[in-house]
Amino acid sequence: MTAKLIDGKLISGQIKDEVKAEITKITNAGGKAPALAVVIVGDDPASKIYVSHKEKACDYTGITSRKLELPAETREGELLALIDELNNDSGINGILVQLPLPRHINADKVLLAIKPEKDVDCFHPFNVGLLATGGGELLPCTPAGVIELLKRSNIEIEGKNCVVIGRSNIVGKPMAALLLQENGTPTICHSRTKKLTEVAKTADILIAALGKPRFVTKEMVKPGAVVIDVGIHNIDGKKLCGDVDFESVAEVASHITPVPGGVGPMTIAMLMRNCLTAWERVQ
Ligand code: NAD
Repeated sequence: MTAKLIDGKLISGQIKDEVKAEITKITNAGGKAPALAVVIVGDDPASKIYVSHKEKACDYTGITSRKLELPAETREGELLALIDELNNDSGINGILVQLPLPRHINADKVLLAIKPEKDVDCFHPFNVGLLATGGGELLPCTPAGVIELLKRSNIEIEGKNCVVIGRSNIVGKPMAALLLQENGTPTICHSRTKKLTEVAKTADILIAALGKPRFVTKEMVKPGAVVIDVGIHNIDGKKLCGDVDFESVAEVASHITPVPGGVGPMTIAMLMRNCLTAWERVQ
């Protein structure tokens, strides 16, 4: 391996420590800590694990977390009523609805119901619109985590060709918007992109977010490129891997993120940062 490892565990730890220090200042001055409501509907095991990681990060940073667990048969109207209640609760700064929701609930409708000021995932179209027009204080957690990884590893984005593989609303599209804000030149690729390898090879910074295990091989990477792996897959319930074939790509890239320990922990750290930002906005 010749590539330098970008350590997401270390960098996410620094961000959580910064948030924790801010919250200690707030509470030492007699203020109330930011509070996050996490709503989970049903028994999806992966969702339960994600929620427990978020709760752990809240405990660490000093954010008050309120977990609201609803049964899988909860009706859409009941969930919307709960969100309305949380929207109007001045003791709650952030609302997060863990996805996926059961099929009988329209997730778009639910995300639209969250007050934009409390939308710490940055999924509400209002916040997405702010992001698209270059503004907004609440940033989408995973893409914002990627930007922090690059910045804190002293990797310049300005003027760089940035290729994002994946155009989802959660990762690919907001990733490109943030790269543009940082004066990068983003290209988004997707499942209908022609000559993907050729396009990927133009990247100074290549971001894989397509959800296909070990899809990006060294043939797709320009020597010396920075490779960020957003994907996460559990192979045979035992080993985690990403969208990048780590071993081969690490031979040609200048920097690479591992899976686990790369982008994954950054998402939660940025969620903590958003909770603090949401709190600051109502002071
Ligand atoms: P998604 O399935 O919603 O979107 C995948 C995108 O990739 C689509 O836009 C599709 O057009 C594109 N794509 C699919 N096959 C392709 C191909 N062969 N060539 C080019 N493009 C192709 O997925 P998502 O929610 O954006 O997540 C992507 C990956 O990132 C998944 O592995 C997911 O688990 C992971 N993820 C990780 C984090 C984290 O915190 N680390 C957060 C969100 C998602």
